Amino acid sequence: MTELAPYAVTENNSSGRIIAEAAPQGRSEFQRDRDRIIHSGAFRRLEYKTQVFVNHEGDLFRTRLTHSIEVAQIARSIARRLRLNEDLAEAISLAHDLGHTPFGHAGQDALNACMKTYGGFEHNLQSLRVVDMLEERYAAFDGLNLCFETREGILKHCSTDNAAKLGAVGERFLKNRRPSLEAQVANLADEIAYNNHDVDDGLRSGLITLEQLEAVPLVATLLHEVRHAYPNLPERRVVHETVRRMINTLVSDLIRQSESNISVQNPITLEDVRSAPAMIAYSPELNEQQRVLKNFLRTHLYRHYRVLRMSAKAQRIISDLFGIFMADSRLLPPQFQRTTEADHARAVADYIAGMTDRYAIREHRRIFAVEETA
Ligand code: MG
Repeated sequence: MTELAPYAVTENNSSGRIIAEAAPQGRSEFQRDRDRIIHSGAFRRLEYKTQVFVNHEGDLFRTRLTHSIEVAQIARSIARRLRLNEDLAEAISLAHDLGHTPFGHAGQDALNACMKTYGGFEHNLQSLRVVDMLEERYAAFDGLNLCFETREGILKHCSTDNAAKLGAVGERFLKNRRPSLEAQVANLADEIAYNNHDVDDGLRSGLITLEQLEAVPLVATLLHEVRHAYPNLPERRVVHETVRRMINTLVSDLIRQSESNISVQNPITLEDVRSAPAMIAYSPELNEQQRVLKNFLRTHLYRHYRVLRMSAKAQRIISDLFGIFMADSRLLPPQFQRTTEADHARAVADYIAGMTDRYAIREHRRIFAVEETA
């Protein structure tokens, strides 16, 4: 195994866990974090949560579980090449979406609107809340008691108001400092994963077409390359081969540019990484191409009328559930019942955010459909 870079996160420079624990046997602290994440209830529920499409649209689409596994794969490859801590990059990737509501961004927007007067709802903060508090699996502590660097990586962005309430893990948002390079890698691996699988899922669903994608330089160049090299390849394989080359192009560019940024900034320690500008980045050229692709997906896929219809339905389900639970806390499962109004709202948000797409649909039916028994 190649030696880690001196500025990579290790057990020696880690800020450790909030509650001290005996060192793990036969695995590193960050492997232990990854293992705790995989064994959590929130991780298993990712299987039935979707990013863009609601789950029953088709079995081939990515769910948040397969998305998180793809992010981890990409993050590990990049971390290894940059001699960073692969286990940490993997743990952050697997945990990064744990706080997502059912029904993707439509669900999060709806819940945020419902929670407006109670401090709002933000999936990223919720992911941290899941690993810090909501998982109830260990005798000695609430949550998963993960290492600081894993928690720091999960909290990708945060308002200064919220950061001020979070203690050490929120500090960098107040002091304008950067997280570890492993966290920066996981963050960009997330973007590489979803842009590419949304192209793939979008094409498979027929919501976007290859002809439309000709307008996106990153896709068009590689598409022509594939068609030229394999003139008789069936369309589905053209798509897979193109997406595969897109991931490869983005990952290679990211590694090249990040290596160059690291050599310019020349960090010696993890502390140097935190005080330097972000070093994990695409080249300006690929950054621009990636931006064009994102815009394309926003216009043609995320705002497609069929997606918007599903989003409207999702928003209705979330706000109906929120409204009825706020009006009468006795309808909540006992473990979510609270005595004060603010605590009550947060518990309702925790309950709804923890639901899978299909659980939310069933819960809505149980409560609102007259023929259904509760
Ligand atoms: Mg993600």
